[in-house]
Amino acid sequence: MKALIVIDYTNDFVADDGRLTCGEAGQSIENRITELARSFVEADEYVVFAVDVHDENDPNHPESALFPAHNIRGTSGRYQYGMLGEYYETVKDQVYWMDKTRYSAFAGTDLELKLRERGIQEVHLVGVCTDICVLHTAVDAYNKGFNIVVHEDAVQTFNPAGHDWALEHFKTTLGAEVVKAAAGSNVTK
Ligand code: ZN
Repeated sequence: MKALIVIDYTNDFVADDGRLTCGEAGQSIENRITELARSFVEADEYVVFAVDVHDENDPNHPESALFPAHNIRGTSGRYQYGMLGEYYETVKDQVYWMDKTRYSAFAGTDLELKLRERGIQEVHLVGVCTDICVLHTAVDAYNKGFNIVVHEDAVQTFNPAGHDWALEHFKTTLGAEVVKAAAGSNVTK
């Protein structure tokens, strides 16, 4: 069994008016990320929506000094973006919505327990940002001994250099398989 971890594909990170948006780059993966979510749900694989949550003006949170406020609890900035958001509404009973407060989806969450309970060894990563939350999740997955697959056509970030660096790091340092859809096909892997 394998899991798909959909990382931070929220309005605040992707929409034009998001509070910490990677804009068009993030929007460019909307179709692919939705297609992957659908294919994993339909194959009865484990699908996790790992979603940043913060409290406004939290003086103790390290990100407060680094980034504008984003993904504030109770705001629409935390909704899944676009087509993925529409799809999420139709399958929310079949997937795991998991709040996270740090870059890594493993930090301070029960993600590892959920994966181990199901005997899952292979985690597929999609979402934003390639060189921040996807990267930190991949590093933790590596340290915990999971096999990692990163879908390069379903991750994005603020700048191309960071994106390219992270994709290379996944391959050469974390031993991840970096994959993308074959041209003209819906095959995921
Ligand atoms: Zn954050």
